[in-house]
Amino acid sequence: MDESTHRREQMGELSSVIRECRKCPLWKDTHNAVPGEGNPAAKLVFIGEAPGRQEDLTGRPFVGRAGSLLERLLAGIGLTRSDVFIANIVKHRPPENRDPRESEIEICTPYLDQQIRLIEPEIIVTLGRHSTRYILSRVPIEFEKITDIRGKVFPVTFAGRKVRIIPTFHPAAALYNPAYRADLEEDFRTIRDELTVTEPR
Ligand code: SF4
Repeated sequence: MDESTHRREQMGELSSVIRECRKCPLWKDTHNAVPGEGNPAAKLVFIGEAPGRQEDLTGRPFVGRAGSLLERLLAGIGLTRSDVFIANIVKHRPPENRDPRESEIEICTPYLDQQIRLIEPEIIVTLGRHSTRYILSRVPIEFEKITDIRGKVFPVTFAGRKVRIIPTFHPAAALYNPAYRADLEEDFRTIRDELTVTEPR
């Protein structure tokens, strides 16, 4: 079995475990877990906070209008969803779209860590304030406002792996406030430029 098939199988097995998971209360009243999807050998991983309504109904991350905008932003730098991996910090939708609790994040994030270790990405893009706060807290890097750090490149070790973290807005933010759209596009150009940088693995 070649490396890519092996990795794909391992990711499939992990996704199956996540779909059956009942370790925290978030699975109650959901339709589907949303493990994440995309290229299991991607250089670039996007991490949002939690599934929303459409994601819960479909079992897929970043669908609906925010997902469409993410796809357009990817297309703007010559990529498609299948080139990258897209996941969330927690894998089941919190009720009424509330923020996930710290205890739920603590129980669920070993899955995200496993995904990162399996994919071995070079760049992790955090989408939105909550995802950014959690991921940077692990490094640890503190910040006041996402506007202070968006588009910056942080070389760190995350889940035992050297990666560059680039925070940006959640695409949904640009749907509510079109002024963020230009910032998102600018940050995606930074992502494109960083993809051309070869870091030692
Ligand atoms: S949110 Fe995470 S830890 Fe909680 S039940 Fe779902 S997969 Fe398991």
